[in-house]
Amino acid sequence: MAEFNPNLWAPWRMEYIRSLDADARSDTGCFLCDYAAAPAEDTAHHVIWRGERVFVMMNRFPYTNGHLLIAPLRHCADPLALESDELNELTRLTYLGVELLRRTLHAEGFNVGANLGRCAGAGLPDHLHHHVVARWTGDTNYMAVLGGTRVIPDGLDATYAQLIAEAQKMGLRD
Ligand SMILES: [Zn+2]
Repeated sequence: MAEFNPNLWAPWRMEYIRSLDADARSDTGCFLCDYAAAPAEDTAHHVIWRGERVFVMMNRFPYTNGHLLIAPLRHCADPLALESDELNELTRLTYLGVELLRRTLHAEGFNVGANLGRCAGAGLPDHLHHHVVARWTGDTNYMAVLGGTRVIPDGLDATYAQLIAEAQKMGLRD
């Protein structure tokens, strides 16, 4: 994280914050809990695969074409309140997400981390989740040109199909 560039997060952050209104209309007030409780809707929600206690999905408001969220299935804000096997699975699935993006999108680098607390950029501070953002050489300049835009939904669906196919090859899902 030494090279972490806060500018990376800026273009989509306002959109993400605006999306919180939509989250407020969810069943539970937490979209991650809604998703966790509705495996039949995994395709609509862009959930890629589920582990025992942690699941992996595409961010609805991605910064790049490859932006994953990895979260415990249960509602929990505090990493230290997770049981050790939950924390292990969260870490393992985060790095399997990295490998998935490396294989699928030929990403050259990654930002991996969590935003803890709203002031740190967390749109959903009460349900812990990790971000994995794929990076390519020169993408910062690219995004500066496109500042404020985000990946179009069609692009999201196409990438989702690719990620599902690769996740199957990796044995992460049926
Ligand atoms: Zn939740």
